[in-house]
This record gives sequence, structure tokens and C-alpha cells, in this order.
Amino acid sequence: MDGFAEPIARLIEQFGRLPGIGPKSAQRLAFHMISAPEEQIRELTQALIQIKRDLVHCDTCCVISDRSPCEVCGDGTRDHSMICVVQDTRDVLALERMNTYRGLYHVLGGAISPMEGVGPDQLHLRELLHRLRDERVHELILATSATVEGEATALYVARLVREFDHLDITRIAHGLPMGGDLEYADERTLSRALEFRRPFA
Ligand SMILES: [Zn+2]
Repeated sequence: MDGFAEPIARLIEQFGRLPGIGPKSAQRLAFHMISAPEEQIRELTQALIQIKRDLVHCDTCCVISDRSPCEVCGDGTRDHSMICVVQDTRDVLALERMNTYRGLYHVLGGAISPMEGVGPDQLHLRELLHRLRDERVHELILATSATVEGEATALYVARLVREFDHLDITRIAHGLPMGGDLEYADERTLSRALEFRRPFA
């Protein structure tokens, strides 16, 4: 990178790889870090190292957590007859904030998107099918986003699980803003979307 000393150029390059960060923002962040107290740099470094060292995917629901089974899967008081299928861990956090849903989750790890090269193989579908062999599960709530990718994914999952006769498949109602991700919906909207879910496929 022209004109910058090598360590600065490297830092700018790293920030520039983050989502939503353009070259100008990358420079701003880099120079912010240069003038930040050493203590803050150490804490940031530690936090970054810990996300790789201390976080795992829950073996059951595939949520990103500090333990497996995660807090929800390991909670015997949760309703094991319902599994709410979401795209990622942030969606689980959004739904948990409502404090009303007592069932379990399954995190797909994305949505089917031919544009971005994401196919069904990259989603945690095998893990889901494995869980559905448990006859205690009576309802599968499809809570993927109200986007083209989210709808396509819901449809794909619904077809995939057709063979499980003991299962009701529902889709959350979308009072959610069109094109909206779950994590951006306010609690009331999310609560209603879940409450007014409807049979699907
Ligand atoms: Zn789990």
C-alpha cells in the first residue's frame, strides 16, 4: 500500500477484509488503533484469539456457543417437541431475547444462494435430519428470513423433511419487513411472527 509503513499497510489490509469496511474506513480504523492505549490493543487481540479458541458449534443444533451441548439444548425444561429452524446464531439470540419461545433451535449456517455459491450441501441439514428421527419432535418451525434466499431455503427444508409423518411444518408469519433479517426485527414484530406462524407446504 503506497506511502504507508509496512505495519500500518498490513493493518489497513486486514481491516479492509471485514464486511462493510471500505478503504477509507479501513484507514480510519487502523489509525485509531495506532493511537489507542496498549491495554486496549491487548484486550482486542485476546478477544479475537478467544473466538477461535473458546467457541464451538453445538453438536446438536449447530449454534455457535462456548459449550456443546449449548445452553438451550442442555436445558431439560425446554420443549423438545418443537424445533425452530433459523439461518444463523444471531437469529437464535434475537428469538431468545423475546423470552417467549420455549422450544429448541436448529441453525442452518446460512441460506441457499446460487448467487453467492451457497448450496444445500453447505447447510447443516444432515444434522437436522438426524434430529428429526427423534419422534418427540412434533413441529418444525421454518424461521428463515423473508428474503428470496430465505424463502427458497424454507421451501427446500420443507421438501426435505416431507418423509417425517409425525411432523407439522410451519412458517413464521412475516409481519417482518420484506427482505428483513430476523435479527433486525423488533421484539414485538418477532413475537407476532412466531405466534401467527402458519402451516407450510
Ligand atoms: Zn444446541
